[in-house]
Order: sequence, then structure tokens, then C-alpha cells
Amino acid sequence: MTQTPYPQSAALSNEQQLVQNALARVRALFRGNGVKQENIQIASHRISRHTMNAGTYLELKPAVAEKNMPGKLVSGQQVQSREDAMRQIEGTMVAAASNATVKAQITSVLLQRPDQGFGLSKQVIPLDFLKKDFSWQEGCSTCHGTAQAPCQRCQGKRTEPCTKCSGRGLMICPTCRATGLLQGQKCSRCFGQRYVPCDLCQRSGMMRCRVCNATGTMKCPTCAGQGWKTYVLSLSPQAVTYFEYDAKAVPKPAADVFETQAPTLIQAGKIKVLGRIADDKENVLGANYEVEFPFGEVVFALGKKEVKASIFGFKGDIVGFPYVLDKMIGPAVEELEEAANDVGNVAGKIKKATRYRVIAQGFLSASRTSTKKTIAHLMKLYDIGLSLGMAEKIALLADSTTSRITRKPRYYGLVLGLAAVAAMDAAYYLLPARSKIASYLPSVKFDFVLDILPMLLGGFITLMAIQFTASGAIRKALGHLMPKGQKSGIVPKAGSVAWWGHAGAVLIPLGMMEAAASYSTAPYWYELARNFVLQTIGG
Ligand SMILES: [Zn+2]
Ligand SMILES: [Zn+2]
Ligand SMILES: [Zn+2]
Ligand SMILES: [Zn+2]
Repeated sequence: MTQTPYPQSAALSNEQQLVQNALARVRALFRGNGVKQENIQIASHRISRHTMNAGTYLELKPAVAEKNMPGKLVSGQQVQSREDAMRQIEGTMVAAASNATVKAQITSVLLQRPDQGFGLSKQVIPLDFLKKDFSWQEGCSTCHGTAQAPCQRCQGKRTEPCTKCSGRGLMICPTCRATGLLQGQKCSRCFGQRYVPCDLCQRSGMMRCRVCNATGTMKCPTCAGQGWKTYVLSLSPQAVTYFEYDAKAVPKPAADVFETQAPTLIQAGKIKVLGRIADDKENVLGANYEVEFPFGEVVFALGKKEVKASIFGFKGDIVGFPYVLDKMIGPAVEELEEAANDVGNVAGKIKKATRYRVIAQGFLSASRTSTKKTIAHLMKLYDIGLSLGMAEKIALLADSTTSRITRKPRYYGLVLGLAAVAAMDAAYYLLPARSKIASYLPSVKFDFVLDILPMLLGGFITLMAIQFTASGAIRKALGHLMPKGQKSGIVPKAGSVAWWGHAGAVLIPLGMMEAAASYSTAPYWYELARNFVLQTIGG
């Protein structure tokens, strides 16, 4: 491979367009994130056309699968034995690696892929056109080629125990049904012995083996009565890829892109193939490529600061962009950390911090989904400029500060909800509305439905009350983030408080039923259970 001198420079026709695309990307990154759009400019850029040599090389490997089947068959090439088959497989692989036509076929499998084989590292490419079977036959070792085996049921004895008397030779006397008596007298058939000789085997206890029809032999199960077995070794040659590129010929940030994304670059249109050629040197299989791509330095002016990065490829990817957003939102994140520790005006601090779009996006996502999904969401929105550590921090702080500001309101909501449930249940059991409804039911058996429904309804009411009061607190802190007319968009997480609500919704009706029991208006099933418990306790 020839070494391309570095730095290499050549005119680039679309440099302006690449730079403008990059500027648009960076402006989008900072929209709402602390730098005014008009203050983001390109300070300087120096992008040139680079070329690089690379190669994808193949190592042929045999994958061999063995199978066998009964009978004397031929599949693929006939060989003498397993050793012979292994020799043939080895020979086939060696021949494939040295035959010019086969080598050209293998290389074209590589080059015809959508990625043209560029950048493939340690991938296994099946070479189906080289698949081949090798088969040989051996006399069956189970039956020694006789195709027959002793009958499995009678072990060759040709007889099996009588099925009627289980081999005893005697059967129950059918006349006296084994009582020995007939109308008070000794049975005339068995003379009081209760058993008579078996009429199927004439007392011998044995009968003709039904499995082998009394021949004592059957078809050998190993070879299906063929006397032979056929063994097949199926060879599926594979090519394992190795990718090499001339890293020293290109600047380090560009080499890093090849290191991490090489197989996707051609299909994504980020690099172009100038030329490719099948490598036909002795003992080498594969393809050589010469690729070209734009690369260079770009300096962005962010207000008074300057940020250096690189542009790679025909799509204008920005690489090596520093974590500028981390620094930009640092003070706001510190305030959030205070808020999470309940220092100062929590809602006010959230409101202030969420003026940064990236933090606001974290809060909106965290209010709807898990921390993990919020982190992934942020990393997708900000694939440059924001570190993973900062995305994690934002997601965790959004969660903890939101639950901090809704903690008290959620307990208010719980109390409010339980009070409403108590009033509803009191009217239901003590007025008593329930007894009137129950009188319309066809059967007392389905009565319990009338007591389960208020429990479910009660749990729902407390949950709604908790979410209602909590959403008030969230609106106060995050309302400015929501588009107008969509203020009810956030459904706050109720947290563990919801379990208290559900517990209350079950316990309050039970209390009301107990109170109703003293007026004898409690549900029938409750009276039954109550009496049972009282009797058990009372002894
Ligand atoms: Zn056999
Ligand atoms: Zn038998
Ligand atoms: Zn009898
Ligand atoms: Zn018998």
C-alpha cells in the first residue's frame, strides 16, 4: 500500500456548503441554550480534500457440519472414510484460495455488498457458492450389516407373557367370579378353587410375540433395516474479514471516525470510493480501496468565545466538538442541585434553570418517562456538545426536584381524596344507599360486587386527587414550558403516596360496613364473616 503524504490538500468544490451546514447544526444546538443565534458565526475554516488507502482482507475458514442417515446413499462427492473427507475438505479450501477464478468470485461477493466491503472488521461472510457435501458409507455397527436386530419385546425368544393372565397361566373362574361358590354349593367349574387354566395360553403363561410375529427378529433400528449408514460432512466455506487503513495518512480526528464508523461511511455518503481493486497478490484475498473525503478544521465564534472542531465527510459531520453546553448550563445545574437538597425556593430555581432548552427538555421527558429514557432522549437531541455525564445529571435532578416540589401537594391530595372517599362510603353504607341497590339484585351471591366497586372507585378518586394537587405544583414550576392550551399535558407521578390512597380506599369501606353492622344494614357476606370471626374468637 502506498503511503499518502500528510497533510494533503486539494481544492474542494462544496466547502462553503459544508461550513454552512455545520453552522446550522451548531446554531440549532444552542437555540434556547444561552447563546443568541446571531452571535454564532464561523470564525474561520480550512477544509480540504483528503484521500486514504484501505483494504479489506479475507481469511477463508471452513465450517463443517456432520450428519448421518440410514441406508446406502451418496450426497455430493463420494469419499472413502471420515479421514478421506477431511483431506478432501482441506484440499478444497486450499484449491479455492489459489484458484484465480474462485478468488475473483469470492472478492466479488465482498464488493457487491451495499457497503462494498469497506471497513468490515471480523465479520463472517458465507460463501454459499463453495458449499459442498462429502459422503461415505459404513456397514451398520449395531447389526454388523445384517440389517436385523433381536426383537426388542421378546429379546429373540419369539414369545411374550400371555396378556390375559399376565403369564400366571391361571385366570379368574368366570362361572363363580372367583367366589368358589355357586348357589351355596362348590362351583362345578373350578371345584371351589376360584381359578381355572387360562383359555388364551392353555396354562402355558406365554403366547406368540406379537411385535416380531414370533420370528424373534426385527429391522435394525439404527440403520432402518438397510444394513448401511451414510455419513455426510457438509462444508460451508466462510470468509472472515480484516480491515486495514492507512491511519498515518490522515489527521487523528479523521482516523478516529474510521476507527469507529468505517463500515457505515460509504452507504451514508460520507466518503466516496475513488477506486477499488480486487487484491490478487499471492496468498492474499480481498480488495483495496482509495477513498476521498473532505476534512478540516472549523472555528465557531460563540459570542466572544471561540470553539474549535473538525468537519468530516461529505455530509459535514462535526467531530471533536467540545462539551460547550456542559459549561454553558453549569451554573443552572448547580442551582438545581441546591433545589434537590431543598435549599431556597425550589419551584423558583426550577423555573430559572429550565430557561435553558436542554434542561427544560430533560424535565418534560422526566415527567413522562424513566430516567434512563430521558438520558437517551437528551443524548439523541444533543449528539455533540453535551456529555453523557451531564445528561445523566439533568435527568436525575429533574426527577428529584419534581418529586420534591410535589411531595407536600401529593399528601394534601391524599388527605383530600380519602375525605371524599369517606363521605361517599358513609352515604353508601349508612344512609343506606347500598341496601336499596342490593334489593334490586336477583341473587345475594353477587352482592359482593356492590362492595368491590366502591373500593376500586375510591382508589381511583384518591389517585385523581393526588395528581390534581401535584399537577398544580408542577404547573407553577414548569407551566412556562408547556405550549398554551396544553397546560394539562403533564400527568405527575403519584409515587408511593398512591399506595396509601389504595389502602385507604379498601379500609374505609370495611370500617363503614362495621359501623353499618350495628344498624343491621351491613352486607350479607360481611355479617356472615363477622359472625364467623366473633364465634371463633369467643370459642
Ligand atoms: Zn443396523
Ligand atoms: Zn418378539
Ligand atoms: Zn369357579
Ligand atoms: Zn394365559
